Amino acid sequence: MFEEEIMKKRTGMFCLLLVVLLVGVAAAQSQPAPITAIKAGRLIDPETGTAATNQVILIEGEKIKAVGPNLAIPAGAVVIDLSKLTVLPGLVDAHTHMAITYKEQPENNYYYLTYIMESTPLRAIQAASNGIQLLNSGFTVVRDVGNNALYADAALRQAIEQGWLPGPTVIPSGPMIGSTGGQFWPTPEMYKYHNIMFPEYIDANSPDEIVRAIRENMLFGAKTIKLCIDCKPWGYSVEDIKLAISEAAKGGCKVEGHVQTTDGAQRAIDAGIHMIAHGNALTPEQHQQMAVKGIFLNGTDTPFMPYRGNEQAFKRTVANLRDAWEKKVPLTFSTDLDYWNERMKNEKTGEWLTRGDLTIAFLETWKAADIPQADILRAMTINGYKSADIIKERGPIKPGFYADLIAVAGDPLTDIDALRNVQFVMKNGMVFKKDGVMTPEKFFHPGPVRMPSGRWTR
Ligand SMILES: [Zn+2]
Repeated sequence: MFEEEIMKKRTGMFCLLLVVLLVGVAAAQSQPAPITAIKAGRLIDPETGTAATNQVILIEGEKIKAVGPNLAIPAGAVVIDLSKLTVLPGLVDAHTHMAITYKEQPENNYYYLTYIMESTPLRAIQAASNGIQLLNSGFTVVRDVGNNALYADAALRQAIEQGWLPGPTVIPSGPMIGSTGGQFWPTPEMYKYHNIMFPEYIDANSPDEIVRAIRENMLFGAKTIKLCIDCKPWGYSVEDIKLAISEAAKGGCKVEGHVQTTDGAQRAIDAGIHMIAHGNALTPEQHQQMAVKGIFLNGTDTPFMPYRGNEQAFKRTVANLRDAWEKKVPLTFSTDLDYWNERMKNEKTGEWLTRGDLTIAFLETWKAADIPQADILRAMTINGYKSADIIKERGPIKPGFYADLIAVAGDPLTDIDALRNVQFVMKNGMVFKKDGVMTPEKFFHPGPVRMPSGRWTR
């Protein structure tokens, strides 16, 4: 009898607790999301390359609710006056590396040594810092594609999603998948006895190994798959690449192929890959084929700067970019930034350039290739969202989309350099930067305040 009494009491307590919990959840749900109203002096639609004046953008919580010229601003809404600025979607770096920084000292730009000398935790913190610097320059989405320590890219994506710190939406690839050796040339003892390839690369040499590598990356958080098509003469065949594409699709991932030879590029094109990284090896005929198939080019078009590059390589890069544009290849803005040196300073002020400054400096190549401003802007936004495969939820400033937007003085449609001075940044409906100053306090939390609804939701 006594036990029954206890059971009854326990059941009663449990029911009470449940009621309290349910009431709490209902109260939380019934609390309306805060409304923000942005007054935009000019609002750019990069898809059409047009701008509308005096628009109001209503944002409810994390998402855009309405956009138009004469919207009524609800009572109690927070009003942000950007009527003197041009508002546009956040920018995309479609190919970068946030968790590796090879240097002239001490490793002589040899990233095999960076990998040995810098720990995964250090590299993860570097990635977090790079993310904040990129967001400060208006980059709200980055594809982070390999050389990421032990899935630091996926961890950063998760941390930003959960609300630990501010940063762009990270599209992580996990380790690059390649055939024996990846992009390293290790000694036999390091390769055979010390398993030096992993976690910087995953060796996958047969169809079974390719399938296993892709599944592992997706299990550990990859949202895109990066293949080394021709990093070694024993690279992937058309059949290998097709297999990778179909396996990645099972986890909702698209495949990017690193190519450095014309033969490798041809195999990637023939297999119908989603994106090709690096434009240097591509021929005009291959540009034509990519345009027909709609294959994105993440050209990683490095400018010639006091801290990087040389004139000859730059001329080639500019000519290749120009030809790809003429052939109507879908182009993204992409950098491949993964290096640093002590010349990376503002020539006038002597101050260090930020990761955002270094990224936006790639505009130099696009300007040298004489690509129309509207097309550059499309590469930096719409094509970036498409190549990252998030165009259905992020990017366009339209109802239902996440509120990721930036504002600049001037008009990037007539002067693309206006993007160098981002005055305002909003990410997921929260203000990260205002009046040219970072105000990121609302992004920091000591716990996961924004748990995504499921591991596989994108
Ligand atoms: Zn790269």
